Amino acid sequence: MKPETLAIHSGNLYESSTKDVTPPINLSTTFFRDEDGGYSGGHMYSRVSNPNRSALEQVLTDLEHGADACAFSSGNTAGMSLFQALKPGSHIIAPDDMYWGFKKQLQSIFADTLTIDFIDLTDLSSIPDYIRENTVLIWVETPSNPLLKITDLKAIAAIAKEHKLVLACDSTFASPCLQNPIALGADIVMHSSTKYIGGHSDVLGGVLITAEKTPLWEKIRNIQQIGGAVPSPFDCFLLLRSIKTLPYRMRGHCENGMALALYLEQHPKIEGVFYPGLPTHPQYEIARQQMSGFGGMLSVLVAGGADEARKVVNTVKLFAQATSLGGVESLIEHRASVEGPDTKTPQNLIRVSVGLEHIDDLIADFNQALA
Ligand SMILES: *Cc1c(COP(=O)(O)O)cnc(C)c1O
Repeated sequence: MKPETLAIHSGNLYESSTKDVTPPINLSTTFFRDEDGGYSGGHMYSRVSNPNRSALEQVLTDLEHGADACAFSSGNTAGMSLFQALKPGSHIIAPDDMYWGFKKQLQSIFADTLTIDFIDLTDLSSIPDYIRENTVLIWVETPSNPLLKITDLKAIAAIAKEHKLVLACDSTFASPCLQNPIALGADIVMHSSTKYIGGHSDVLGGVLITAEKTPLWEKIRNIQQIGGAVPSPFDCFLLLRSIKTLPYRMRGHCENGMALALYLEQHPKIEGVFYPGLPTHPQYEIARQQMSGFGGMLSVLVAGGADEARKVVNTVKLFAQATSLGGVESLIEHRASVEGPDTKTPQNLIRVSVGLEHIDDLIADFNQALA
């Protein structure tokens, strides 16, 4: 089935005596045991599994063409669970502009247990030089944050396969509707469901989806169930509700993102636009091949430096000055000041999450802010 159909039907696993059309929220933390000691209802204790989370994991598995999914209480925990599942002493290859929360995790929480090379993954020819005997994982993020770099997933999957490495992809900016890394050869896909999957800036969550149920995956499942950083049934309900409209929301984000990128690209006060849908983007051809749409995230360089960039952020009215992305409302932020003093992000860069307002109103707002 196509994503629009899966998004609506695949999470509806529920069979109810009251004939509900949409699944209720199951708040029970514990479930009846049968006389023979079994659990014929399919659940034993809510940290291990519960109906709402199982439904969420099912629909995300289907949307990403995977074999299984683990839902977590945040995107950060989803990624961390994979890093925790690696043998201490392992080496990881990660992108130089990796989502800064993961970079921070690897440099602090895993500083004593894992070694990491942060490299430019758009230059595939250099990757084999970094592979060591203890390398186990290549982590990619495409499109990347905040420079919207695109990594060629098919090509990097071939490198990972050749060297028997796990390939994981943070696909948050694409959502499960614009790109399916597993179909292109990735082993594990990660999303912060706080972003497009949730889509309304009101629920925190993360997910890992696997291509195969490998021993590494069983370790991740164990970390989820025994570690316990799981989303609540209510969080799962909200995400399931949001996913039903995800394919249609993504079309709107793509349409608005493209239109705003084209408008900003020709504006004399904008020095550069990072958006994978622009033919001027250095990896435009790869983006066209591996994505079905270019999303609603773009970054721009404002002429005049950090002060001018901050002025724009403070002068727009419809774009809320706030971090995060992927919601129905447009957000804007001066990224370097969010990332702190050790950031490599250009000081005149503003990151925009284009929402689902009418594009004419969004362009008019930028027009007055740049005037
Ligand atoms: C937000 C985000 C994360 C972390 O997710 P949380 O839900 O905030 O923990 C990871 N990767 C990317 C690309 C993100 O945008």
